[in-house]
Amino acid sequence: MSTYEPVIGLEIHAQLLTATKIFCGCSTRFGAAPDTQLCPVCLGLPGALPVLNARAVEFGVRAALALGCRIHPESIFARKNYFYPDLPKGYQISQYDRPFATDGAIAFSIGGAARRLGIVRVHLEEDAGKSLHEGAGDAGRTTHLDFNRSGVPLIEIVSQPDLRTPAEAAEAFSRIREILVALGVNDGNMEEGSLRCDANVSVRPAGTAAFGVKTEVKNLNSFRHVHRALEFEIERQVAALSAGQRLVQETRLWDAGAGRTHVMRTKEEADDYRYFPEPDLPPLVLEPAWIEALRSTLPELPEARRRRFVEQYQLPEYDAGVLTQSMKLADYFERVAATAGNAKAASNWVMGEILRKMKDTGTGIEDVPMTPDALAELVSLVDQGLITGPVAKAVFEKMYESGRSARAIVDEEGLAKIGDAAAIDAIVREVLSGHAPTVAEYRAGKTKAFGFLVGQVMKATAGKADPGHVNESVRRFLAEPAGEPR
Ligand code: ADP
Ligand code: ZN
Ligand code: MG
Repeated sequence: MSTYEPVIGLEIHAQLLTATKIFCGCSTRFGAAPDTQLCPVCLGLPGALPVLNARAVEFGVRAALALGCRIHPESIFARKNYFYPDLPKGYQISQYDRPFATDGAIAFSIGGAARRLGIVRVHLEEDAGKSLHEGAGDAGRTTHLDFNRSGVPLIEIVSQPDLRTPAEAAEAFSRIREILVALGVNDGNMEEGSLRCDANVSVRPAGTAAFGVKTEVKNLNSFRHVHRALEFEIERQVAALSAGQRLVQETRLWDAGAGRTHVMRTKEEADDYRYFPEPDLPPLVLEPAWIEALRSTLPELPEARRRRFVEQYQLPEYDAGVLTQSMKLADYFERVAATAGNAKAASNWVMGEILRKMKDTGTGIEDVPMTPDALAELVSLVDQGLITGPVAKAVFEKMYESGRSARAIVDEEGLAKIGDAAAIDAIVREVLSGHAPTVAEYRAGKTKAFGFLVGQVMKATAGKADPGHVNESVRRFLAEPAGEPR
């Protein structure tokens, strides 16, 4: 049996974070009562005319620039005609043969290997309304229409078929999401549908160049679903080809519950959208100077920042990846690292305690009550040898709850490290006297007792004794001739 290689390309719809819709002044707010954010333009009433939202264009261009695209000084809006109840105008305003951006690419890596995903095009379009189905069966079924989403601005990003595995596809989608979120043009929310991904996939005999017949899988609202749906689809296609069947080009829907895809429509039934230039909108003309001005305001993008974290702070790739999962988290880390002057320690605290707190409370970094400077002070106290690691953890909790500074907690509660050798010796002598039977066992050869005794000393000092000193001191006392420790 020959082996097959998958070929995958993505089509991503991203809602632009404008306050108002793309061709009218209605609000884009999510979650409002149905049909409360509408006007004659959204509903396509006779005589209503679209006026392009400049902010939507700006966001679209920012996204396309970050995706490495060429921005065209002139592009054209087109009508995509089809009938569906949630499309009151009978057409969607989109871009067709002259989109505003083409020929981009993003770099990403998977399992340490550098990969590239070409971007065919980015275009602007309006979203349709939402159909809400209720009940089942022909008699009992009702469909409600909510037009609040009609006219919400979207960009569609079409990739080249450059991806070869479901994991690569999920990773590339995740990188694109990260870029859009970092730019502030999309909220990355797949559950609410403000970021949607359709995956096109085909398989071909390994080593051959020609592409196979593709299917398009829709309804993928998480990275996991992209991954699982592609795995299923690849297996299905390979099984069909191996059995000597022919595949047909079709659009399939992912059913997450059943863990399979099923046919939505085939190419033979494919829509003829009868695209034609939108007569109510002039060509979209973008001044080259304006495009360059926008380019100069692009923030450092996540992939670049990740690389910089590895180089500038000598962080492991893993840390750099975790810390750049949101730009605000990365900002927080950089502030702690700069103030504390210890990047690896700052990374450990942010990845460990701060992320744990965020997870426990289900909040973002912007809701973390501890400022980066306050955390940096704690990191410094450890670095200067003023408190031990275990005490630092306890101080962190107290800072988090009370908002007091690390220094104040350490001073007021007497938590400074006991580093004085004579003081530690005295505590060790006292603790060991209290555990005479264990000491005797140790001396009789049961060396496992050592760790227990060190633990007892640390406990007696509430974790404040310098652990190195304690180890050394306990070892010295145990090495003394048998009898009561002096
Ligand atoms: P269509 O004509 O069906 O719209 P396009 O050529 O416009 O197809 O491509 C749509 C998407 O499908 C793109 O993301 C592209 O990368 C991907 N694609 C095209 N051909 C294939 C193929 N043979 N296998 C997998 N993906 C493909
Ligand atoms: Zn409107
Ligand atoms: Mg196409």
